[in-house]
Amino acid sequence: MSKHPFILKLGAFVHQSPGYSKEFIFEHPQIQFTDDFSVNDLDGTIVVTRSQQGVLLQGNFSGDLQLECARCLEKYDHALEWDFNELYFFNDQDATKEDFILPDDAQIDVKAIIKDEALLDIPINPICKEDCQGLCQVCGTDLNHHDCGHKELPLQEDTDDEEHSPFSGLKDLL
Ligand SMILES: [Zn+2]
Ligand SMILES: [Zn+2]
Repeated sequence: MSKHPFILKLGAFVHQSPGYSKEFIFEHPQIQFTDDFSVNDLDGTIVVTRSQQGVLLQGNFSGDLQLECARCLEKYDHALEWDFNELYFFNDQDATKEDFILPDDAQIDVKAIIKDEALLDIPINPICKEDCQGLCQVCGTDLNHHDCGHKELPLQEDTDDEEHSPFSGLKDLL
């Protein structure tokens, strides 16, 4: 593996005609992006295409991230998938302040772009599987592994709701 696996050397693109493109492949068993963000089985491609004004990077990535399920609190491997498009201009005359400019050495370190876009795919409430049963609200048992039997009982919350429902007065009248 190269020492700087995320640096794209794009010098050749400058002298090609618009439309020229090349695919870069990224495969890493484990990538530590920051101290508390690492992705396993990173797998992706970046297609670089020479345009009139610069180079367009089109990335397409997937990888596994260990997360804690918001329902059952178990750790699980969450499959991330993300993509991005970034245009790097050859010179700043064509670009606005927010745009990227291709540096003089035509080398782009894409690690930060890959990381930033991956972060956007992390769910706020991660769920280990769609039908995760979560924890029992009475005894805390993980209901995915063991049915403690409490689920059949009405939950405290539900009874409260009924007492304060607009129909509770009606029930008394009847
Ligand atoms: Zn879960
Ligand atoms: Zn229980």
